Amino acid sequence: MLKPGATIGILGGGQLARMLALAAAPLGLRCHVYSPDKDSCAFDVVHASSCGKYDDEAALGRFAGAVDVITYEFENVPAKTAAFLAKRRPVLPDPQVLETTQDRLEEKNFISALKIATAPYAPVHSATQLAEGVQVTCLPAVLKTRKLGYDGKGQAKIGKGADPVAAWRTLQNAPCIVEGFIEFEREVSVVVARSRDGKVECFDVTENEHRDHILKTSRVPAKIPAALANEARQIATRIAKAFDYVGVLAVEMFVLHKGRGRTLLVNEIAPRVHNSGHWTIDGATVSQFEQHIRAVAGWPLAKPLRLGRRVEMTNLIGQEINEAARWLTVPGASVHVYGKSEARAGRKMGHVTRVWPAK
Ligand code: AMP
Repeated sequence: MLKPGATIGILGGGQLARMLALAAAPLGLRCHVYSPDKDSCAFDVVHASSCGKYDDEAALGRFAGAVDVITYEFENVPAKTAAFLAKRRPVLPDPQVLETTQDRLEEKNFISALKIATAPYAPVHSATQLAEGVQVTCLPAVLKTRKLGYDGKGQAKIGKGADPVAAWRTLQNAPCIVEGFIEFEREVSVVVARSRDGKVECFDVTENEHRDHILKTSRVPAKIPAALANEARQIATRIAKAFDYVGVLAVEMFVLHKGRGRTLLVNEIAPRVHNSGHWTIDGATVSQFEQHIRAVAGWPLAKPLRLGRRVEMTNLIGQEINEAARWLTVPGASVHVYGKSEARAGRKMGHVTRVWPAK
């Protein structure tokens, strides 16, 4: 268990690291961010920072020597980097989780082995496998590269009657999975925290709306029946337990509505704090960031309670950051600006959370 004054090392220097560091400070814990990007927006708010590449062993060694425990803000930390650091300091969540979640095929196999439902899927490494895979998924379907996909990058839809080979070519014939295209009713996620001694706390199920494959708005509570929300939390809890996970994890799911019943399919696991949990900073008694810090520090988790009957988080993407000021005086709104220098299209620059108090 870390004592106040101890230092948590964070790999990655984006807004997630920034909000982790901001949550650590009130607990008396310090953060040291390691990032290859000298413009990292987390550098502004941390006790210490290191700018180095993920294969620079001298810099990584100095970083490990300066911190008590190491965590990360993104799942594409190279396996070699995680292994190098794990020999020197505890790395939480365990790097074995990264290996599973960095690869969409491994991830889907892991979920299926737990008997949790996903969209029908199949591996694609050859034209023959592609033809066989499409038999499994039927069309329309989505091709996704096994590695390094995010926000819809590395994905290609195969429409009904379209040529799967042509779609695969747009992804440079990279190793993929093909997945059935799901006509979902809505998308939801569960942000779950697990402590070092195996206790689990879930936040309320969040409903997510994407625009151009990027999360635009998260709303809480999700408009789903209570029993389905319970099931969603149970799925996230089972996944966290199966990984023997320490920290915060997000599970993205599709809600299917067929006839009178609704079912859940897991789409993706994020082994980190997640954009769909940003509402917890202003909309709950403890944030996902504080829960993650508590977990990796070996502290007990808080029991999160939602503040308000309804909470809504909206991302400010690209130039939308210029609208941030108009939210400053809106009742119940909290404005978060990540301090990134360049407002490129599609870049998450900040967010606004609105809380509607209980009457
Ligand atoms: P992902 O990178 O897998 O999270 O996908 C990004 C977004 O694409 C999801 O949030 C969905 O809106 C959409 N999407 C991904 N997979 C599917 C699917 N199998 N069927 C329908 N929509 C999907």
